[in-house]
Amino acid sequence: MSAYPSAEVDAVVVGSGPNGLAAAVTLARAGLRVQVLEAQDTIGGGARTLDLGLAPGVIHDICSAVHPLALASPFFDAFDVRARGVQMNLPEASYAQPMDDEPAAIAWHDAERTADGLGADAATWRATLGTLAKNQDLVVELALGDKRSVPPAVLSPHSLTIAPLFGALLGLQGTPAWNLPFRTERARALLSGVAAHAIGRIPSLGLSATSALLGTIAHGVGWPIPVGGSQAIIDALVADLRAHGGEIITGHRVRTWRDVPPARAVLLDTTAGAAAEILANRLPRSLEAQLRRFPHGNAAAKVDFVLSGPVPWRDPDVGRAGTQHLGGTRGQMAAAEAEVAAGRIPQHPVTLVSDPSIADPSRIQGGVRPLWTYAHMPAGDTTDPTELVTAQIERFAPGFRDVVVASQGISAADMARHNPSLVGGDISMGRVTMYDMIARPTARWDPYRLADTGWYLCSAATPPGPGVHGMNGWHAAQRVLRHEFGLREMPDLGPSA
Ligand SMILES: Cc1cc2nc3c(=O)[nH]c(=O)nc-3n(C[C@H](O)[C@H](O)[C@H](O)COP(=O)(O)OP(=O)(O)OC[C@H]3O[C@@H](n4cnc5c(N)ncnc54)[C@H](O)[C@@H]3O)c2cc1C
Repeated sequence: MSAYPSAEVDAVVVGSGPNGLAAAVTLARAGLRVQVLEAQDTIGGGARTLDLGLAPGVIHDICSAVHPLALASPFFDAFDVRARGVQMNLPEASYAQPMDDEPAAIAWHDAERTADGLGADAATWRATLGTLAKNQDLVVELALGDKRSVPPAVLSPHSLTIAPLFGALLGLQGTPAWNLPFRTERARALLSGVAAHAIGRIPSLGLSATSALLGTIAHGVGWPIPVGGSQAIIDALVADLRAHGGEIITGHRVRTWRDVPPARAVLLDTTAGAAAEILANRLPRSLEAQLRRFPHGNAAAKVDFVLSGPVPWRDPDVGRAGTQHLGGTRGQMAAAEAEVAAGRIPQHPVTLVSDPSIADPSRIQGGVRPLWTYAHMPAGDTTDPTELVTAQIERFAPGFRDVVVASQGISAADMARHNPSLVGGDISMGRVTMYDMIARPTARWDPYRLADTGWYLCSAATPPGPGVHGMNGWHAAQRVLRHEFGLREMPDLGPSA
């Protein structure tokens, strides 16, 4: 562990994930002296892009790869990541759902084109996701708020129609009545595939909320792939933090409060359990117990491939999407997720795939390209997922094995090796149910503030939950500025400020 400098700081952030950095930038912009302590040797948590040594020059997104939430997020809108030179390139299609016995279902960026491909469900798709996409800002404010205050847009007159539509889609897709509004298997599977960005049983309200939000953004700002990988977003945050006097110390894992220099405020970009551990016996007992009890969800196991060419999808349109959801029909996906929920490895696990080079040709180096994939697995499972994922891709892309040059599989249990917050492979820092999304990690009025200690939680373990949107860090930092520093006016985050 490297020693931290003795110079006094106003605020310390433990963890340099997107939320830790969003908080750090906000605090530094308010004029505070900020120090970030990161356990790993590399900065960025779930948004790092690294050379895994699989092929010369080929870099891999070791966690997040596709960034609808960063493009739609109010925090990143205020920070204006694109004005800082981060190119967020949009594939022609946001996501694709290949099928065994019929043409793939494709969610094009254009909602009309998507509806046109969905036959009997064209009108319903237009009336639901098409309409929501036209009102994306309202949907995003609803979904990415702190779940404790009413977002201003919700008070606008047009929210009287849009909020109930969002609620109806979310509600119906989250219950056994989920097949009612959509008649075709392709439209149903398309929605279940996008729900698979969270891990849990389907149908369920937690996953249908994910589906409604990401499905809306797919036809709104779209699902971009940053040029140079997710790290480009992190690099922009780091540059801004350093420009405002902040510093980052890597290789410094905080195990107890004693590992943190004295500061008026400390923000933890960690799991709820890690926060309880670090502050053991320094929090009110009931709060410490609640943090320890906050449940983890099931897991992802990752495989990074190097390919000699594009994935040979049976339906070529599938390759025009930035993300593929592999699982087949809605019923097949529900069965696979039920296996995972029961602690068993499914024969055909739900698998997410992205070839970043379709939006960023610079990712092809020496004629070979990276392929990002992960499969849903039971928490803590130790199986190397490479063969399961390869077989699942072969199912929809015969000949896939022939283009594989190299691969690296990481079991669910091993995911925490490169980020201690991925406990047992849980990529969401806590279970994703509707209750847990609102009451994460506790049902308290202020879920960020750890009582009167000056310590706060700012990670994905708080509302609005997982994803690279920086909102948890931003919500927490605003509370720190108000409670600990008496600042009511929030700093301008824009590039020219
Ligand atoms: C495989 C995978 C794929 C994903 N795909 C996507 C995607 O495509 N799009 C998307 O939007 N989201 C995706 N996500 C989710 C997204 O990455 C996370 O929700 C997001 O990174 C959470 O940000 P965070 O800052 O809260 O935590 P993290 O990004 O996990 O960062 C936490 C940081 O804190 C550090 N840390 C933890 N404990 C300590 C400690 N005690 N001391 C010091 N440092 C500590 C960690 O090392 C880490 O750097 C994916 C996640 C995974 C794992």
